[in-house]
Amino acid sequence: MGRSLQKPRGTQDILPSEQRYWFWVEDTWREIMLAAGFGRIITPTFEDTDLFVRGVGETTDIVSKEIYSFKDRSGNAIALRPEGTAGVVRSYIENGMHKEPQPVKLYYFGSMFRYDRPQAGRYREFYQAGVELLGELDPIVDAQIIAIVMKFYAKLGLKDLTVQINSIGDAKSRPKIHRALIDFLSAHRRSLCEDCKRRMAKNPLRVLDCKEKSCQSVVDEAGGVVLDNLNTESKNYFTKVLEYLDDMGVEYELNPRLVRGLDYYTHTVFEVMTKTGGLSVGAGGRYDGLVKLLGGPDTPAVGFAVGVERTIELVKTQGVNVPEPMRPNVFVVQLGDEAKKKAILVIDQLDKAGYQVAHALGRGSIKSQLRVADRLGTNLAVIIGEREVHSKSVIIRDLTDGAQESIIDRDMLRTVQRKLKERKNR
Ligand code: ATP
Ligand code: MG
Repeated sequence: MGRSLQKPRGTQDILPSEQRYWFWVEDTWREIMLAAGFGRIITPTFEDTDLFVRGVGETTDIVSKEIYSFKDRSGNAIALRPEGTAGVVRSYIENGMHKEPQPVKLYYFGSMFRYDRPQAGRYREFYQAGVELLGELDPIVDAQIIAIVMKFYAKLGLKDLTVQINSIGDAKSRPKIHRALIDFLSAHRRSLCEDCKRRMAKNPLRVLDCKEKSCQSVVDEAGGVVLDNLNTESKNYFTKVLEYLDDMGVEYELNPRLVRGLDYYTHTVFEVMTKTGGLSVGAGGRYDGLVKLLGGPDTPAVGFAVGVERTIELVKTQGVNVPEPMRPNVFVVQLGDEAKKKAILVIDQLDKAGYQVAHALGRGSIKSQLRVADRLGTNLAVIIGEREVHSKSVIIRDLTDGAQESIIDRDMLRTVQRKLKERKNR
């Protein structure tokens, strides 16, 4: 036997017993999105590296430290997607969606790849459920996206969540903000970490995202510098977003030091966090510069991405009552060669009648088959032995109380239907 193989560091096997949580999150996401008029999009898991270098930004952690990039066999520079927005925007442009009636409303669900430091809630392959609304610039749209994602978390059954919100201003106010920030940070240069000293010159907004303890006091004040230097348009826009949120009854917290780790954001940025633990379960914002940056027409846009693993973790720790995945309604048991052949026909008949049928045709003893039925949580069994083959009948047994009766083949379906109905009404 060879050396046993293990999954790469930072990845996970998501086993069948976990799937009820994944179904819960994915199905709820789909329901909310379709109801709100968003269409699903599936884009490639890998793209040209250049898309992320241009679209996410060379100075971001995602691209400078975390990207999985490689040359394929033809020498093309390829990268596993570290986030979903850049691919969706590329597709929007490439498929001419900017020529369709605007806004274009899209959602996705898929895995992202980042060379992150693996720890609780942080993986190298993780899933995001995302939403993007392209082609409309209006504060009500920002508020609507926030309201929809909060509705999603509420529908999941999660409590203790809040949305933190901030504005980093439009493109026109960016130079002034940058200058003011650089002035401010230069004055406090000595208290900044090495990363921030570097970021300061290239992209000072990113300093606000620093998690180093030593930078925190400077960063807290830097948030105020951004807000003080927003132009009137950006201030008015932000005020409107907050007013609409008030009107919609969505609770929020202002967080002046909130920025996103990606370069393309403008105006509103927001992040959904647990109130008590400060855990980030999703983040988003407006990105009016990205479509043009990637070669499309000047197009405003806003989006959000849910961190699926962290959301599932919360679903578990908050003890949300997650629905059971579909259980088979009926289990077919057989004993002997002739019975096995008859079982195949019975299974087919039940299946065509629309039941979820389970069986263990590879097993011999009735006892071991019933054990499988028990594990699956099935309450009703159709049992076929040699005697039933000859008498053209089956035994129908209620697995919860053991009550059983012999039924002629012709009445099998009708009896199964009646028994299941009785069970439901009990
Ligand atoms: P962080 O500051 O925690 O690294 P980020 O700013 O890199 O987060 P975003 O790019 O905004 O995160 O992604 C949105 C959401 O995706 C986060 O709120 C989080 O729930 C989730 N997420 C990000 N990175 C990871 C990861 N490595 N593993 C699992 N989930 C992640
Ligand atoms: Mg990160």
